[in-house]
This record gives sequence, structure tokens and C-alpha cells, in this order.
Amino acid sequence: MSWGFEEGKVYNRRSDIHSKFGGQQQGGIITPVQHPLVIIVTGEEGLSHGYADRTRADGVFEYFGEGQVGDMTLQRGNLAIASHSAEGKSLLLFRKTNEGLRFATEMVYETHHLERAPDREGNERSAIVFELRPLTAVVEKTEDGVATVNLAESLEELRALAKAAVIVGHQDVTTVVRNVYQRSQDVRNYVLARALGNCEGCGSPAPFSRKDGSPYLEPHHIRRVSDGGPDDPAFVIALCPNCHRHVHAGADGDIYNSSLLDRMVTIEPR
Ligand SMILES: [Zn+2]
Repeated sequence: MSWGFEEGKVYNRRSDIHSKFGGQQQGGIITPVQHPLVIIVTGEEGLSHGYADRTRADGVFEYFGEGQVGDMTLQRGNLAIASHSAEGKSLLLFRKTNEGLRFATEMVYETHHLERAPDREGNERSAIVFELRPLTAVVEKTEDGVATVNLAESLEELRALAKAAVIVGHQDVTTVVRNVYQRSQDVRNYVLARALGNCEGCGSPAPFSRKDGSPYLEPHHIRRVSDGGPDDPAFVIALCPNCHRHVHAGADGDIYNSSLLDRMVTIEPR
């Protein structure tokens, strides 16, 4: 569920999206003014021009930007996609079907590249192709990945990496150094180093060591990645397995999660 939309369920563009959130009635990128939301629709539009959005083998979804004729530019809807994380906006992907718009899932912008593709009039032009990851994959990478901490790096260096801003909207795409997805690894490394081997929830020492000798703790996103900034270490806490299950499976999991958010004010001052 994201913004009341259930994955796989079909919605009516007018009554379920525009009447609730507003936004442009036409086109594949909808940017409601009153809500921190960017809605993108994948469907026939590109097909009729001779190209199509697609999912790569590595799980990245490639989405063609907007612009009917001539070179696409990183403005308006295209800029909204590239900057959604930095602006704290959710990016929701819908698939156009005969019945309506089927909600796919919430995505995270990773980067984009330029590609030659025909425009509406059949002329070759430069098209912006966004590389998007499902939000769940980004969260999983931080929570379930393996830490790759280089012991030579100080806590401050790890923190600087984790806090490094994603360069958004820059003309030269090669200058995007660390994208949101790559950064989730930096955040993981930093948060585990910050915990100094103790659960940041209950304070207990990690219950056991990993095979590499490091204390076993699990990074947990207190808020979702898309809430208020991309993968900010101020919203990721290192928990012992017990506390982590408490949040996800406990009857009072939500309350416990809120108390962890309060605790972060002292753990990671913003
Ligand atoms: Zn704990």
C-alpha cells in the first residue's frame, strides 16, 4: 500500500487519482501541486512512437521521460522524477491497461541516461531514460545487505559518505557520483559503525558476531526511504534481531517504532 493504492489493483485515473490529488489530466507524468507525490504511467504512449519502457535483468525499470517532439529536457515532469527523493516526494508507478491504471509499486529514482529514440513525428531525438528501482529493493539493500566497512575509514568519513547529497538535475549525467541505491550501502555501513556493537533500541550488546567477526545488528528504516529525504541515516537505526522483530511483528510495533524515532534525535542529531 502506498498512498492508499494497493499493488496490482486497477484504478480509474479521473476518480481515483485526479479527483483526490489533482495533477495534470494528460500525459504520463502527474505532479500534484498539493501532495508530495509524483505519479508516472507506463503504457502504450511510447509504443506508438516505436520504443517502450522496460525492466532490465538487474531489476532496474527503465522509463522514458516526457516530450513529444525534439530532444527531451530535464524540466517539468522529467525534473520531478529526477528530484523526487531530494524533495521528499513519493514516486508511484502505474501501468496503463484496458481497464484503467494498474498500480505497480513505489519506485526510487536512481539515475538516468540519454538514448536516441524517435519522437511523435518519427524523427530521431535524444530521449531521457530514467533508471528506477522499486522502493522495497532499496530498503532491503540497506536492511539485509552485508556491511562492507573498511576499517581504515573513520566514523566521520563513513558518516560523510552516508550523508552525501545526491546531485540532482545536473546537466552532465556522468557527475552523479552516488545515487540513492548505491548510497543505501553507505548508510548501512555508517549506521552499523555508529552503533559500536550495541543495539540502538534496547542498548543490549549484539547477540552474536558475524562470520567476519563484526557484531550482528540489523539496520532498520524507522521511516520509509521516500518519507523526507533519500535514505537519511537520521532515520536508520541499528537494532538487535529481537528489537527488529518487535517493530515488525509486535502488537505494539508501531508504538515502539515511534519511540525509536524519538530516540534518533540524540543518536543522530540532524
Ligand atoms: Zn535491541
